[in-house]
Amino acid sequence: MKHYMMLFPEGKTKAVTFSYDDAIQSDKRFIELLNKYDLKGSFNISSNMCIEAEGQENPRNIKLSEIKEAYKGHEIASHGFTHPHLDRLPLEAMSYEIYQDRLTLEKATGQIVKGFVYPYGNYNADTIAALRLNGLVYARTCIGFPKYHEFDVPENWLEMDTTCHHSDKRLFDLADTFINEDPLRNWHRKTGFLFSIWGHTYEFDKEEEWERIEKLMSIVSNRSEVWYPTTIELYNYVQAYNSLVYSVDMSVITNNSAYDIWLAKDGKPFVVESGKTVRL
Ligand SMILES: [Zn+2]
Repeated sequence: MKHYMMLFPEGKTKAVTFSYDDAIQSDKRFIELLNKYDLKGSFNISSNMCIEAEGQENPRNIKLSEIKEAYKGHEIASHGFTHPHLDRLPLEAMSYEIYQDRLTLEKATGQIVKGFVYPYGNYNADTIAALRLNGLVYARTCIGFPKYHEFDVPENWLEMDTTCHHSDKRLFDLADTFINEDPLRNWHRKTGFLFSIWGHTYEFDKEEEWERIEKLMSIVSNRSEVWYPTTIELYNYVQAYNSLVYSVDMSVITNNSAYDIWLAKDGKPFVVESGKTVRL
């Protein structure tokens, strides 16, 4: 039987994402760096923190009235209205935290919010059900087990993991592997490489730490084989890939999605354009 590997838009073999939590004022400096290197971030916000920041002189968090402008060009995702331990709440309070945050962020930005990050990384089966009921499509954990340090694309999007935290001792080893290895050489891989990094910008409290993350950005950025999506853009592309229709011997592939989808067969990339059928 044939085996196809999922590639990213335009046949790119790798992708990098950044996911940062809590809407800290220092996100503004981080976004300047992302913009300098043409990178995209997903910013996960507990909007009640931003409401509370409104009346403060030097707030720790970005004000609700600022978020639309502050995160322009990047993704805003939900992080629970008051940053609760969701797994410790009764069902109605859990559902309120998820719904109210999404509603507040959407009203403040005029954008649709579909992503989520678990506050403290905590959740249970009810939390996942509540996310589904409220229309959230992905939810990032920060537990880091068992997939930590891998370059795999998430399969279970409501319990998705990352490659590493930015303070990880192996950050530059991982970047080195990510840049120097070619996923097309390993025909058994299911997808190209995804290097996903998470953290909080308040963790960059020394100049050396800002220099360290900028060095990482300079290494992974502006590379022709790498795609730089937000997390929701990655999710949307993977859903389109998963919606491809195959003949039973996999020699005919139809793409009913709005995206051109790239695959590789025996290490060779090819495209199934939106609305088209290919015969191999
Ligand atoms: Zn948080």
